[in-house]
Amino acid sequence: MTVRTRADLESLPGYVPGRSVPGAIKLASNEDSLDPLPSVVTAIAEAASRINRYPDSGAGELTARLARKLGVTEEQVSLGCGSVTLCQQLIQATCTEADAVLFPWRSFEAYPLVTQVVGAGQVKVGLTPGHALDIDAMIAALTPEVRIAFVCTPNNPTGTALTRAELERFIEAVPSDVLVVVDEAYREFVSDPEVPDGVEVAKEQWARGRDNVAVLRTFSKAYGLAGLRVGYLVAPEAVTAAVRKVFVPFGVNALAQVAALASLDAEDELLERCRGVVAERSRVHAALVEAGYEVPASQANFVWLPLGERTAEFNEHCLANKVVVRAFVGDGARVTIGTPEENDTFLAVARSFPR
Ligand SMILES: *Cc1c(COP(=O)(O)O)cnc(C)c1O
Repeated sequence: MTVRTRADLESLPGYVPGRSVPGAIKLASNEDSLDPLPSVVTAIAEAASRINRYPDSGAGELTARLARKLGVTEEQVSLGCGSVTLCQQLIQATCTEADAVLFPWRSFEAYPLVTQVVGAGQVKVGLTPGHALDIDAMIAALTPEVRIAFVCTPNNPTGTALTRAELERFIEAVPSDVLVVVDEAYREFVSDPEVPDGVEVAKEQWARGRDNVAVLRTFSKAYGLAGLRVGYLVAPEAVTAAVRKVFVPFGVNALAQVAALASLDAEDELLERCRGVVAERSRVHAALVEAGYEVPASQANFVWLPLGERTAEFNEHCLANKVVVRAFVGDGARVTIGTPEENDTFLAVARSFPR
């Protein structure tokens, strides 16, 4: 006899990670292309000699450090095994099967997956013709079932970001008992001064008594720790307390905790790397536009090519030329900004795509 599992698992699509192809340049997962900083590797190596012990389940030192840096209390910070785990915990903490999760689409691949795992309903809201979040449509799509709304800015995979006015307009339109989660996985790559710091926006909203705004950040992208899995939530205490209720104990491992602390020590160096990525993003964007591609302005460490029906063909062309991009067939391709050499290789491949 086979084990009886949940019948609805059949309909779960499963997360598709960016591919790794031996010998190819990987621009598929929005990782940092540069090697980890030596100081971070040293901290990990030193901590490795103590891995017979459980980690600090509450990640106390890292929590305190982040709280100080962000100007919030320790109770307003919650660590997770990557911010994707925090997305799932937030949904588990707010929704049952009778409730729904609102999110833009296309956006982060994990939103529909973790929503389905919890069994909640989905309210997917299409983007604008310019590939940005459609705030009016998101407001119009709010239903009484919606308990949590994700706002991905900059949006993965289109790279577009909300202005302060747009973000505030959305927050103000959402009932105060519905949680708004501003997913800022790419915050450190934002260069447009019109795009606000979500934590600052959240703190202003809390000060006005709106305790329904939370922010997600991660060490995976700008801090180069994708392989270690650590992200954080900044939210009012009632929200972090709820999220901790659905926390898997010891979720953030000991090496991730020390690596995150070492990365905060080396923050200047890492943010300098981000500025390098931003400069390369402008160069890649200009070169692609010059080559005749439509490319929305990106505030993240990737660009989006809305190739529609030609996406699969473009993906095959890139793979044939040893460049791995992230293709969403029928929609577009997301290309991570790598080192200048990697970007040059990609640009040559993009220019040679028959158009
Ligand atoms: C990469 C990403 C995350 C999560 O990354 P983790 O590695 O789980 O911290 C969250 N949101 C968006 C939009 C992302 O692109």
